[in-house]
Amino acid sequence: MPDQMRCPHGLRFPLTLLDQLRRIPYGANEINAVGWCSLVEGHSGPHHALGQSGGEDDHWVRWTDAGIEVTVLPFCPTVMPEDEDQPCTLFDGHEGPHDYELEDYPTTVDQRFAAYYWAPPAAN
Ligand SMILES: [Zn+2]
Ligand SMILES: [Zn+2]
Repeated sequence: MPDQMRCPHGLRFPLTLLDQLRRIPYGANEINAVGWCSLVEGHSGPHHALGQSGGEDDHWVRWTDAGIEVTVLPFCPTVMPEDEDQPCTLFDGHEGPHDYELEDYPTTVDQRFAAYYWAPPAAN
C-alpha cells in the first residue's frame, strides 16, 4: 500500500514559542523555526507538529487558525508490524494512520504545502 499523504499545514513558530521550546530541559532535537503537521491529510481537529523531545516527554505544538499551544502528549504505543524497532512517532490516540504509514515530510515548500503555510503576524 502506498504511503498516505500528510496534512500540508505548516506553521512558522513565533519567537516566544521558539524560546519556550529551547528552554525544555534535556532537549534532544535541534529546534526548527517551522513545524509541519504530522497527521494525515484531511484530519479533523488541530494540527500537530513535534516541537521538542525532552527527557521522557514529547512536547507537541498544536495549532488552529485561532491559536497555538505547546502540550506534552504520551507516545503512540504502536510499532511497525514488520519491524518492532520502528515505533510510530506520533502521540497516543492520534487520528488516522501511524507515522510509518504516511509519506515523508517535505524537504521543500511546494505549492501544495505553500498554500497552507501559516506565519502568524509578528507580535509588537
Ligand atoms: Zn494538520
Ligand atoms: Zn501511531
